[in-house]
Amino acid sequence: MSAMIYPTSNFAEQDKLCIERAKGVYVYDSNNKQYLEGMSGLWCTALGYGNEELIAAITNQLHRLSFSHLFGGKSHSPGVALADKLAAMVPIEDARVFFGTSGSDANDTHYKILRYYFNAINKPQKRKIITRERAYHGVTVASGALTSLPVNNRHFDLPIDALNILRTDSPHYFSSHLQGESETQFVDRIVANLESLILHENPDTIAAMIIEPITGASGVIVPPDGYYKKVQTILRKYDILIWVDEVITGFGRTGNDFGCTTMGIKPDLMTFAKQLSSAYYPISAAVIPGYMHDAMVEQSSANGVFGHGYTYSGHPVGCAAALKTLEIFEREHIFEKAAEAGVYLRKQLEKFVDHPLVGEIRGKGLLMALELVPNKLKNTRFADGKVGAFAQRACQEHGLIVRAVAGNSIALCPPLIISHSQIDEIIQKLTKALDDTLIYTQK
Ligand code: PLP
Repeated sequence: MSAMIYPTSNFAEQDKLCIERAKGVYVYDSNNKQYLEGMSGLWCTALGYGNEELIAAITNQLHRLSFSHLFGGKSHSPGVALADKLAAMVPIEDARVFFGTSGSDANDTHYKILRYYFNAINKPQKRKIITRERAYHGVTVASGALTSLPVNNRHFDLPIDALNILRTDSPHYFSSHLQGESETQFVDRIVANLESLILHENPDTIAAMIIEPITGASGVIVPPDGYYKKVQTILRKYDILIWVDEVITGFGRTGNDFGCTTMGIKPDLMTFAKQLSSAYYPISAAVIPGYMHDAMVEQSSANGVFGHGYTYSGHPVGCAAALKTLEIFEREHIFEKAAEAGVYLRKQLEKFVDHPLVGEIRGKGLLMALELVPNKLKNTRFADGKVGAFAQRACQEHGLIVRAVAGNSIALCPPLIISHSQIDEIIQKLTKALDDTLIYTQK
C-alpha cells in the first residue's frame, strides 16, 4: 500500500485499478487491459484522451508563460481571452468571470461573492442559500455543506447551520413520490414545500438557490416537466437568485451548450469546471452578471480590495487548455455531434427497458443512468448499494468503466466524441454485466 490517502474512497478498497495510459475513449490499466471510459473520467474528459491539439496548446503555453497570477490587477492574455470567450457563451447579461481550479472552489467563490454583493447593496440580511436533498456541489467547507450527501458533509460535521444553508426536496419523481401521486401532483407538492420554506424563513433573508440542472453524483436526476418553470416563478416572486451549477452539465453534455438550456432555466450565476478544459488542466469558473460585479467594484473601493483569489486563479496553462477546448468544441461542432450521439445512446439503452433489474432509464444527451431495482418493482429498493457496486465491478471486468451513483444507479457519461460503434460496444459490455448482476441478485 502506498502513502497516498485516496479521495472519496473506502479505505478498504484502495489500489483496485491502476490506470496507466489512455487514448481516445479508451484507458489502459497496468496490465495493459483496455477499458472503454464510459464516465469520461469523473464526468470531465469531453474530448477524450491524448488529443494532440490540446497537448500542443498546453505545451506551447508552458514554453511561453508557465505561470503568472491575476493578483493586484495583473493579467495575461490567455486569462483575458478565456474570460471574454466564456462571457460571450453564457446566457448571462454582461457576464464576468472569476477563475479557480475546481468545481468546489468555484462554488465557494460564489458563496462568498453573494455575501460580498449583498453587503454592497445594503442587504446583509440576505445570507441563506437553498440547496436540494441529494445535491452534489463539491467538498470544500461551503460547497460540501451545500452538498446533501451525508458522506460529504454530515460525516465531517460541517457547520451547515452557521453557513445558513437550507434544504428542499430532491425533484426525483421515481424515488421520491408518494404512493399514488402523479408526476404533476409530485411537482406541485415539492414546489409548494419550497414556497413554504421560503415564507417560513423570510424571503428577505434568502440570497439564492443552487441547482444542478440534472444531477450527477446523486443519480442523474432529471426533474419532471414543469418543475423548473414553477421553481423559477417562485424564486423570481421572492427575489431569490438562481445559481446554476453546470460543473457536470456544462458544454454539450446534455444535448445543448448548457444544462440550463436543456432544462429551460434562466440563470443568474453559473459554475463551471471539468469539461471547461476537457480535464487536460484543472480550471473552474464562477460567472456572475455585470450588475453584481459593478456593485462589488463599488464595495471594494470602500474596502480597499476584493480580498478573494487563489494562487492558481486563471493559471495561464489552464486558460490555454480551456481556450483550445472551447475552440475545438466550436470548430468540430462537438455539441451537435454529442446531441446526436446522445439520441443514439438513449435508443440503445431503451433495449434494457424489459430487463428485470432496470427500474428507470433516465438522463439527457450523453448523461444517462439506469436505476437498478429488484424485479422492476418501482417502489422497492435494494437494502444497500451492493448491487450497484457489483454492477460497476462487472462492467469493469467486461472492459467498461461506469459509476454506481446514489446506491444502485449506474451512470454513463462517455466522452462527447464517442462514435456509434463505441456506443454499441458500451451496450454489449453493459448487457453482459447486467446479466452477471442478475445472477448475483438471485443467489
Ligand atoms: N458541482 C458538481 C455538480 C459536481 O458534480 C462536482 C464534482 O463532481 C463539483 C461541483 C465539484 O467539483 P470538483 O470535484 O472539481 O471540486
